[in-house]
Amino acid sequence: MRPTRWLPAALLALGLLACGRLTATPAPAATASPHLPAATPSAAATGTLPATVTALPPTPAASPSPPIGVTSPAAPTAGPTAGPPPPVVILSFDGLRADAAETGNLPNLHALAARGAYTYHARTTFPPATLPSHASMLSGVGPEVHGLLWNDTDPARGLIGVPTIFSVAHEAGLTTVLVAGKEKFLHFNLPGTIDRYTFVTNGDQGIADQAVVEAQAGFDLLMVHFPNPDYFGHLDGWMSATYLYQLKRTDDALGRLLAALPPQAVVIATADHGGHGFVHGADLPADMTIPWIIAGPGVRQNYALTGPVTTTDTAVTAAYLLGLTFPGAVAGRPVWEAFTNLPPLVTQTTATPAAP
Ligand SMILES: [Zn+2]
Repeated sequence: MRPTRWLPAALLALGLLACGRLTATPAPAATASPHLPAATPSAAATGTLPATVTALPPTPAASPSPPIGVTSPAAPTAGPTAGPPPPVVILSFDGLRADAAETGNLPNLHALAARGAYTYHARTTFPPATLPSHASMLSGVGPEVHGLLWNDTDPARGLIGVPTIFSVAHEAGLTTVLVAGKEKFLHFNLPGTIDRYTFVTNGDQGIADQAVVEAQAGFDLLMVHFPNPDYFGHLDGWMSATYLYQLKRTDDALGRLLAALPPQAVVIATADHGGHGFVHGADLPADMTIPWIIAGPGVRQNYALTGPVTTTDTAVTAAYLLGLTFPGAVAGRPVWEAFTNLPPLVTQTTATPAAP
């Protein structure tokens, strides 16, 4: 929670490096090949950022036994519906570009949007890379606060050092589950915050298989990470025929999972980043723009969100649904516009001062 003095400069340097490299040099296949995923999903999880990312000095978040930061029980508040909070599901499609999500052959995703509220103009945080962006998605704060700026599986760097939706929910006694398709999600597995954590090694169909098992076992918060869109974006290019074909297969997996969820669940479907050419990581709309869809009881149906949505809103909206708040200031906010009724009082502090 404590930005260090070097952090802004490091972020700036990272941005300059990423932008300079990725925008000044359009990435042909040969150039991109060092960043192509290898044959196994765990190897596919490695380095899509310049090597300089991993050379950054360790952050406070990188200590082997970081403080979780949850110092007081989250205050229970009412969610958007009367009665107990609904089960909440966060689905992250790794590297699902917003325009591909909107126009691709994705009948299950589009059916989810049709029974919910959606935007294909949400934004992720910079850098648009898997670990930093998922850290924002799960913590409600930006990279300048969560400090998780690397993008490789690197246990020596430790775990995320800020509260996550998992830690907040678990602290409140809720059952938390994560099914991840990349090994590097271990950096989110703070001890005592995720009741059931699974790293699935055989892609989106295996992810759906495991997620169905977890759904049937019961949960309050379930996050499911589908790795394949990113894998095939790096392999054959974002928006390539291969990428678009494989999105349909991912959508098939999504359909199997949705059919197994309890009817009262509220589902948020989104992505960590998009991509262009064979890469991502630049401050470009193709990389930064993500889909954001929410559906379930209390959510507007077939409603196109008009307000801005940022990936940090995912964690805070999930907390709101569960009747919880983050213990400290967050950058995200519940996406109030998505809900059918005016929200009850929620005393979440936001990081953005709203001085009159
Ligand atoms: Zn990613």
